[in-house]
This record gives sequence, C-alpha cells and structure tokens, in this order.
Amino acid sequence: MASNAYDVLVLGSGFGGSLLSAILAKSGMSVAMVDRARHPRFAIGESSTPLADSALAQIAKDYDLPELMPLTKYGSWKRSHPELTCGLKRGFSYFGHRRGQPFDASDQLVVAASASDEVSDTQWLRSDVDQFLFQLANQVGADSYEGVDYHLETEQAGWRLTGVGETSPLSLHAEFVVDATGPAGVVLETLGIADQTHELKTRSQAVFGHFAGVRTVADMLVERGVDCDRHPFSCDAAAVHHVLDDGWMWQLRFDDGTVSCGHMLPALGDGEMLNPRQVWDERLATYPFLHRQFSGATLVRPSGGLQATGRLQRLTSVAAGRNWAALPSTAGFIDPLHSTGIAHTLFGVRRIAAAMLGENRLRQQRLQVYSQAVIDELKFIDQLVEGCYAGLPHFRLWSAWCMLYFAAVTSQEHASDPAEVSSFLGVDDVEFGRMLIMARQKLQATLDGDPGPEELASFESWLRDALQPWNRVGLLSPEAAGMYASTAAPI
Ligand SMILES: Cc1cc2nc3c(=O)[nH]c(=O)nc-3n(C[C@H](O)[C@H](O)[C@H](O)COP(=O)(O)OP(=O)(O)OC[C@H]3O[C@@H](n4cnc5c(N)ncnc54)[C@H](O)[C@@H]3O)c2cc1C
Repeated sequence: MASNAYDVLVLGSGFGGSLLSAILAKSGMSVAMVDRARHPRFAIGESSTPLADSALAQIAKDYDLPELMPLTKYGSWKRSHPELTCGLKRGFSYFGHRRGQPFDASDQLVVAASASDEVSDTQWLRSDVDQFLFQLANQVGADSYEGVDYHLETEQAGWRLTGVGETSPLSLHAEFVVDATGPAGVVLETLGIADQTHELKTRSQAVFGHFAGVRTVADMLVERGVDCDRHPFSCDAAAVHHVLDDGWMWQLRFDDGTVSCGHMLPALGDGEMLNPRQVWDERLATYPFLHRQFSGATLVRPSGGLQATGRLQRLTSVAAGRNWAALPSTAGFIDPLHSTGIAHTLFGVRRIAAAMLGENRLRQQRLQVYSQAVIDELKFIDQLVEGCYAGLPHFRLWSAWCMLYFAAVTSQEHASDPAEVSSFLGVDDVEFGRMLIMARQKLQATLDGDPGPEELASFESWLRDALQPWNRVGLLSPEAAGMYASTAAPI
C-alpha cells in the first residue's frame, strides 16, 4: 500500500490542477495529484484568449517555470513545441444563419484579439497540453496517482484519501486539498456545500466532437461570392461561431487539420436525454451552409464518438474554506461562449497559489476573498452570456450584446497590468455592473416590441453610448461595420 503524507492533495490533473501542482511543488510544498483518468485523454475547452496568455506568462515569471513561456504565444509555441498540437487563434468570428435560408453576407462580425500570428492566441489540443503540464508538475516534484478509484474524507488534521490505484491500494493524507475535478466537484460533494445554480439565467447544453474534412468558412464564403478581404484576419484562424436561430456552433481549427466543433442548444429539462447523433444531423440538415461545410467531414475524436452534455450551468455557494479550495471550473461553469474558461482557471490558479504561498496569517482571508470573487465572476459571465441567447434569432442583437463582453475584456487587456488577479473581467467595476443591468432591460424592451431594422439600430445606438466609458477600441462604431481590427490586445 502506498501511504504518504503531503502538504497538499490536488484532485484532478487537468491543465488547472497540473499547473497549480507545478507551482506549489516548485515552491517547496509536497504535492500529490490524483486523477480518475490517465493522460493523454480527450478534454474539451480549447480556445485561449489574451488574458489567458498574460496570466500564463505571469505564472512562468512569478514561479520560475520558464517551460510555460513558449505556450503563451502561437509563434514561440510552434518553434519550441511542434509536437504539441495547437491552432492559430487571431480572434473571434461570427456568422449568422437562419433556418433553411442561404447565408446573408451582412450577418458577419469579426473581432481581432491578437495583432499578428507571431503573438497570437492559440487553440489548445487539450490531450497534448494537459499531458505536457502534468509531466511538468511531475518534473518539478509533484507526485501523481492516475486511474485512481478513491474515497475522500475529512480528518481532524486535514484530509484522508483511500483508494485503489492502477497497481496497488493507496492511502494519502494532506492538510489542504484543492478540488480541480471540474464538474465532478469531489470536495464540494464531500463537504455537502450548497449549490446555487438556480441563480443562473443561462440554460444551454452541448453536443461536440473533433472532425476532419470540415471545409473552411473562408472557402465557403468565397464560393458564395462573399469578399473575405474585409476580414481583419483569416476568419478561420479564430473561435468561429455560427449563430443559429436558437443556439450557436463553435469551430476551432487545429494545425493537424482537425477541427473542434460543438453545437450549443437550449437545455432540455431535468432527466430529459438527447441523442447526440440525431441532434447533430438535424442541425446540419436545417442550415444549408453547415450542411455543405460538413459534407465531407468525419468524426475523429473522442474515441467514444459524439459527446452530449446535460445543462452545463452550475454554481456552488462557497469556493474555498479553511483547508480547501476549488478551481473556478469546479466552482461553476456557464457556457463556452466568449471562451472565458481557460483564462478564468488561470486567474484562479494564481489566486489560490498566492493564498497558499503567501503569509500564513493571511491565508484564510485570501481564500475567502477568492471564494466570493470567483462566484461573483461566474454570475457576471452568466449575464454576459445570457443576453446573447436572449437576442436570438436576431444576429444584430446577438452581436450587439457580445460587445459588452468585448468592452469588459478589452478594458482589462488595456489595463497597466492585465494579469492583475484581483478581479477577472473587471467584475468589481460597479458602474459597469449597473450599465449591464440597464442594458438587459433595454434589450428586453427591444425584444418585446418585435424589433425591425429601426429598433435594432436604436438598441445598437443606445448601447454605443452606454458603453462609451469602457470602449477604448471603437466597439459598435458604424465605420467598422462589424469588422474590428483595433480590438487586438496590446503587445
Ligand atoms: C463544452 C465546453 C466547451 C468549452 N470551451 C471552452 C473554450 O473554448 N475556451 C475556454 O477557455 N474554456 C472552454 N471551456 C471551459 C474549459 O473546459 C474549462 O475552463 C477547463 O477545462 C477547466 O480546466 P480544469 O483543469 O480546471 O478542469 P478539467 O479540464 O475539467 O479537468 C478535470 C480533471 O479532473 C479529473 N477528474 C474528474 N473527476 C474526477 C474525480 N472524481 N477525481 C479525480 N479526478 C477527476 C478529469 O479526469 C480531469 O483530468 C469549455 C467547457 C465546456 C464544457
């Protein structure tokens, strides 16, 4: 039997758990990572952002982990780690589609996030990246236990994990435990922490997989005579969003030619199950553009076939306590829209690391601040996402509501220290919060009036004025006509 005592047990060795383990081990703590699965394994959540890049770079500097630095930009990633699959992500592109109708070229929105390919964001093939970070944690001293079936319980002096590893039984003790298990939320479950998902307004679920043979959007547009030269960067080197009548589809292109694709749909009721293949085929059959784009596509990952989730939204009422902390994506989750997950996780990793490695007497206070902050941030993301869905099927309302996210994120990207961790997306900006509530009321009034072009333009105009204090990059400017080059993060 492996029987060991550690300072910290990190449950879950996704990129978040692995990075936190690497930081703590590198800083001298004894750390054990425990995962039910084994690397490499399929994982979803692949599209990075400038805030994620700067947070990762800051971790590399603060904790003497130079191995991370190449992964913060596309150019250095490709030179240093060609064996780790990634994709070029210059920003966000959106294309509106109506059921059964041909694509209308006026329904486009392209927003730059990175100024050049060299400094660009990336799409992470998570099986590669997570394994790399897991191995890094091992190299800097963390112990790891994979494929473990276990039971966790509290003890007077901390935590006890007993279980069966791949070769032998194990019994591990630690003073502190980090829950990095994502939706499993093992520590939250063990402690019986109350859930507050009912506070969330977004209701969506996903069907997804990785495909080969998906035609590029640019190719499809050129075929329809649409001028792609208007795009500030290649629209496929992006988090591509196909905005549909009642949901949207993401497409993230990797350099090995495969594409992560997923449909986001209105969530079914509790206990209702969807058939992923049926949903997928129906959606392709409904939207002629997608039908043609996928005509030669085949599913290549994961080995189990198309994946379907239930409702994705969840939120805990407490994200840290005296001797435990949960990473952001364990504390809650809203939706893939706006690609907030990786950046939020990295902000969480930094805050938990700072609490654990800082002055001992401040640890409790810092963990409490973290707990409240991460919950407030998830509620804020809920507001940023829910309004987009509410605007459907109007592509213009969807696009206008997206500008609230871009105002929040570009404000943080342009701040003197974008990786400053006190608040993710500027959630502590009270004025922005007030404006967001007013914007939602205005959106509702617009929707209630069954809007035509004039009402849509009037909402955009109202929002342009309301956003002005946070709009450093020309969002909603009529001259941009939905094509934003000036939104790229400062280098
Ligand atoms: C459909 C979807 C699409 C997304 N798209 C994006 C995106 O484009 N961009 C973005 O930034 N974010 C996205 N996200 C969010 C992103 O996936 C998460 O933010 C990210 O995966 C969090 O990483 P993590 O390491 O904290 O947890 P995870 O990646 O969830 O890793 C959890 C780890 O815990 C292990 N585990 C599970 N149960 C147990 C257990 N009981 N005991 C021990 N180990 C366990 C798992 O094997 C895994 O290794 C998306 C999420 C979803 C659901």
